[in-house]
Amino acid sequence: MKRRIFNEGHEIFRSTMSKFVQTRIIPQYEEWEARHCVPREMWLEAGREGLLCPTAEEKYGGLNADFIYSMIIMEELSSQGVPGFFLPLHNDIVFPYLQKYANEEQKGRWIPGCITGENILAVAMTEPDVGSDLVHLQTKAFRDGDHYVVNGSKTFISNGQLANLVVVAVRTDPDNPSSHKGISLLVVETETPGFSRGRNLEKIGLQAQDTSEMFFEDCRVPVKNLLGREGEGFKYLMESLQQERLVLAIGAAAAAVGALRVTLDYVKERKLFGTTLGKLQNTRFTLAEVATQVQLGQTFLDELVLRHMAGERLVKEVSMAKYWVSEMQFEVAHRCLQLFGGYGYMKEYLISRFFVDGRVQSIYGGANEVMKELIARELGL
Ligand SMILES: Cc1cc2nc3c(=O)[nH]c(=O)nc-3n(C[C@H](O)[C@H](O)[C@H](O)COP(=O)(O)OP(=O)(O)OC[C@H]3O[C@@H](n4cnc5c(N)ncnc54)[C@H](O)[C@@H]3O)c2cc1C
Repeated sequence: MKRRIFNEGHEIFRSTMSKFVQTRIIPQYEEWEARHCVPREMWLEAGREGLLCPTAEEKYGGLNADFIYSMIIMEELSSQGVPGFFLPLHNDIVFPYLQKYANEEQKGRWIPGCITGENILAVAMTEPDVGSDLVHLQTKAFRDGDHYVVNGSKTFISNGQLANLVVVAVRTDPDNPSSHKGISLLVVETETPGFSRGRNLEKIGLQAQDTSEMFFEDCRVPVKNLLGREGEGFKYLMESLQQERLVLAIGAAAAAVGALRVTLDYVKERKLFGTTLGKLQNTRFTLAEVATQVQLGQTFLDELVLRHMAGERLVKEVSMAKYWVSEMQFEVAHRCLQLFGGYGYMKEYLISRFFVDGRVQSIYGGANEVMKELIARELGL
């Protein structure tokens, strides 16, 4: 079914992005998976191709493109099975904090480097003892003259080994240890003394991603690196979640498209019982069901993208999308993998990567149980 939300400019951009994935990412991806990190040079190359922060204003070197360009980047990475090059985290999840809450001086200092790839972004909310329940985060920052002195640790931070600008959620009001009012956002430049990176964590999927620990020991962050206003950080985090979850759902839908595509190719070729796998009724019904689910997910998301771009508040709908599409994605990967038999269990078949990479989608960006709580709240329950 032709998707109506793309204009000619979007289609041209998709061809460029698709070619970039095929020629510059896929050939090197297994090496990056083995190193658990994408080389910094690739970020600079992505910058030269206009793939970093496409929505940034022209005065900083950006393209001032609409959100659909970002969507296309996410879709091409996910549908072609290379989501570990996590450009969307940089472009659509962390960069908007700078776009929305940084002052002019900060924007001038940071944004041009985010567009060239000299600045790689991360956001550090999660801590060893606090994930879903962010209100209780414990990393502290007390004011000392022109600096905040930060102490604490973060974990599971995407782009954690590469990032050189990290938006860190800290507690600036120690008298309010469990209140959202005491939370602020600081941009930590990673060469700041007292900042250190911990392990690049071993994961079951997203092998090319450098998901890491971070530590702050008397880390002196200049007050001029405060984003927005002190004590407003939790509000900023919540305001940004709509786009974060929408982007993750877009990635999930695109991965389901990719899993279906490689499976269709496979079942048309695989011979058994005097026919091809694709001619068996179970295969036909399975893939008919999968294709229906994929289509429904994508149609829902296309509608949400347009409404998001129009500035609508979509807490309920985006929570529905994040929860339903991520579960759909994993079910699709699971059912498609089954059709590959033993080959599906082999790393050399892309379907195995769709399966392991998809598992995290119902956990990060807010666990799906949290999404259901939000939906129920919006239903007045
Ligand atoms: C690969 C990866 C990348 C990540 N990248 C980042 C990043 O860049 N920055 C960052 O800050 N964090 C990141 N995270 C962390 C991620 O956002 C958290 O893992 C997630 O928010 C869940 O927190 P938690 O792991 O502490 O689980 P917990 O909060 O301990 O939750 C455990 C489980 O409890 C259940 N649960 C939670 N809340 C509720 C509820 N309200 N009602 C019912 N059940 C509930 C769910 O089943 C949930 O999975 C990443 C995680 C992974 C795995």
